[in-house]
Amino acid sequence: MTQATQTQTTQGLAPTFTHLVSKEGGVKYPLKALHVCEETFSPLEVAYDYDAIRAQVSRETIEAGPNSIWRYKAFLPVNSENPIDVGTGMTPLVKSTRLARRLGLKNLYIKNDAVNMPTLSFKDRVVSVALTRARELGFTTVSCASTGNLANSTAAIAAHAGLDCCVFIPSDLEAGKVLGTLIYNPTVMAVKGNYDQVNRLCCEVGNTYGWGFVNINLRPYYSEGSKTLGFEVAEQLGWKLPDHVVAPLASGSLYTKIYKGFQEFVKTGLVEDKAVRFSGAQAEGCSPIASAFKEGRDFVTPVKPNTIAKSIAIGNPADGYYALDIARKTNGNIESVTDAEIVEGIKLLAETEGIFTETAGGTTVAVLKKLVEAGKIDPEETTVVYITGNGLKTQEAVQEYIGQPLTIEPKLDSFERALERSRTLDRLDWQQVLV
Ligand SMILES: *Cc1c(COP(=O)(O)O)cnc(C)c1O
Repeated sequence: MTQATQTQTTQGLAPTFTHLVSKEGGVKYPLKALHVCEETFSPLEVAYDYDAIRAQVSRETIEAGPNSIWRYKAFLPVNSENPIDVGTGMTPLVKSTRLARRLGLKNLYIKNDAVNMPTLSFKDRVVSVALTRARELGFTTVSCASTGNLANSTAAIAAHAGLDCCVFIPSDLEAGKVLGTLIYNPTVMAVKGNYDQVNRLCCEVGNTYGWGFVNINLRPYYSEGSKTLGFEVAEQLGWKLPDHVVAPLASGSLYTKIYKGFQEFVKTGLVEDKAVRFSGAQAEGCSPIASAFKEGRDFVTPVKPNTIAKSIAIGNPADGYYALDIARKTNGNIESVTDAEIVEGIKLLAETEGIFTETAGGTTVAVLKKLVEAGKIDPEETTVVYITGNGLKTQEAVQEYIGQPLTIEPKLDSFERALERSRTLDRLDWQQVLV
C-alpha cells in the first residue's frame, strides 16, 4: 500500500493503527500482509496509537455508530471509509435465567454468536475485518485454512465483496459446513487430512500464489476482529467488564483477543479497570492447551485431534502459549470435556435457553458446568459464556441423542392417543413410540 492511500482515512480522522510488531522482542514491521517476525519467529500483531483512539471515540460516538462491529472501527486495522459491512456483530448478550438456575449461578450472561451475520458463527467478525484489509492491500483472491466455519464466512463475505475465493477444509467436515460454503460458489479444496495438515498446505500455497489467506498472511488483521467479542460484551453490560469469561479455544486467538479488547477499553477510558478471570474450553479429543494448563507447562505439545467438536479441533494451536499465560495470570482455568459431555452441553443450552449451538458451544457450556461443579466459578460473579457457532451446522453430532416426532393420522383421536402415550413416557423414549 502506498502512503497516499494510507492517509486517505475515514471521515478525515487520523489512522489509529500504526505498524505491525512482533509479540516477542517488539520488532517493528510495515502494515503489509506479513504474519511472522523474521528475527524472533514470533507472531506479528497490529499496534495502535491509543492517544489517537482516545481522541476519536467516546461511549456516545460508539453508541451512535453502526449496529455492527464497525462501531468499533477506531480499534480495528482498516482505513476504508466503507468497510465490508454485512451486519456482522452486535449479537445478543442474553441474561440467563433458566441455565443460570440449573447451574446455581446468579449473574450468568450468554453472548450469542450462534446468530451472527451472515453465516451464524463468530468467524464473521474476523473475516469482515480480514477481507476489508485484503481489499485495501490490493488482493483480488482470498483464501483460508478452515475447520468449517471460517470457510463459510470467507466464502460468503468474499461473495458479497466480489472477491475471488478458494478455501481449504479437511475432507471429513459436517455436511452443513460443506454445503454452507459451496452455496456461495467458491473453489473448495477438501483435503484428505486434519486441520493442521490443511494449514501446512496453505502455508505452502501462500508462498507461491499471491492470495490473501485470512488466517495466515492476513492473520494479524484477521485476529483483531475477535476483539469485538470483548468490546460488545463490555458495552452491553452497560460499559462494565464482567468478572469471569468462559470461551472456547481452538488456536487460542479468540480468547487472547477478548482479553486485548477489554484492555484497550480500559486504556482508552471507556470502562473502569477490573480483574477479569479468563477460563477456556477444549474438547478432550483435542485438548493440547488444557493439558498444558493442568500439567503446569508453559509450552503446548501438539496432538492429533479426535473429537466431534471439529470446529475447534486444532492440534497445534498458534496462540496456545498466549492463552495459557492469560488463564494463569487472570486466575482462570482451562478445562476439557468428553464428546458425550459436549452433546449434553448442546442439549442443556437448547432446553434451558432456546439456543441451538454447535459442538464448540456444547464444549463451552459443558466446561462452564464442570467449572461450576468444581467450585471454580463464584455464583455471584458476573460470568459471560461465549457461544460461537450454530447447531444447524453440526446436526450429525446430536442426531442420535434427541427425540423423534410422534407420527399420527390426521385425526383428533390419533392425536389424543399419541398425547396420552407421550405423557406417560420419558421424552427420550419417544423414539420407541409407534402410534
Ligand atoms: C474457530 C472457532 C472457534 C475458536 O477460534 P480460535 O480463535 O482459533 O481459538 C470457536 N468456536 C467456533 C464455532 C469456531 O468456528
